[in-house]
Amino acid sequence: MQKLRHVLSTKQFGDTRLLEQLCASAAQMELDDVARTLPQPLRGRILATLFYEPSTRTRFSFEAAMQKLGGSVITAENAKDSSSATKGETIADTIRVVSGYADAIVMRHYEEGAAKKAADASPVPVINAGDGVGEHPTQALADVFTINKELGKVDGAKVALIGDLLNGRTIHSLLPLLALYRDVSIILVSPKQLRLPVKYVSFLESKGVRFVETDKLAGAVRSADVVYVTRVQRERFLSAEEYEAVKDAYIIDAKIADNLKSTAIIMHALPRVNEISPDVDANYRAAYFRQAKNAMYIRMALLNYLLA
Ligand code: ASP
Repeated sequence: MQKLRHVLSTKQFGDTRLLEQLCASAAQMELDDVARTLPQPLRGRILATLFYEPSTRTRFSFEAAMQKLGGSVITAENAKDSSSATKGETIADTIRVVSGYADAIVMRHYEEGAAKKAADASPVPVINAGDGVGEHPTQALADVFTINKELGKVDGAKVALIGDLLNGRTIHSLLPLLALYRDVSIILVSPKQLRLPVKYVSFLESKGVRFVETDKLAGAVRSADVVYVTRVQRERFLSAEEYEAVKDAYIIDAKIADNLKSTAIIMHALPRVNEISPDVDANYRAAYFRQAKNAMYIRMALLNYLLA
């Protein structure tokens, strides 16, 4: 297995070996963190977090991950307005400069393909923390880690992906990882306007993954092991009317949550708007806050893999 240099897309994962290795490492990091016995393998190393789009979890969890392993962080949390991008600097030039200060760069950008451009210019590892409507590979790593922890395995899981499958980059990254596992079946639930782009549908077909597409929530979630809800990505819509027409297409409330399989889990990359009512939070199936915490541990495992 060739070592990954950059992490840009989950299509870089050709099989489950590295995934399993990262999940095992993340689980150990969590144990060590709880016991306060974390090793400091990244002491003296610097991570740059360069965010051209808003973020809470991704940036904080990467920064916490780096610091828990002994490293430190330099950050631009609002790079679209506060970095030299406003002066017209290209991504390639910014990356060439930042890579002189940092041992790795985590970048979020509003343009699909921006992470690849950054990687092409970078002598240090670049991690894609979301590139427009493209991908968000480390969220998908957190998702697989969460499914593994919560269900005990990913093989055989019936996964319902709900909401904005057109613009939801977390889904675009999760599908290629799910496709690596045995006997996974997928239910794609979205309004017609927000269906999964053809390139991802073709990908599922090419991998022989079982999937169905529907716009009906009720039947889709009844037998699912994973009910993965996404936010309708308001920032990607051209008009407020188009967003308003679909924003509340699916809402998981306490009643729906109570009627899921007893072993099912509800996931969401967060932030949520209306798509999961707060009254679901008390349901033991609600895994989204655990998922957010897991993201820090898998990012620790990833930074350790890339840098240690
Ligand atoms: N936080 C995730 C992302 O950046 C999900 C979302 O924003 O809806 O893609």
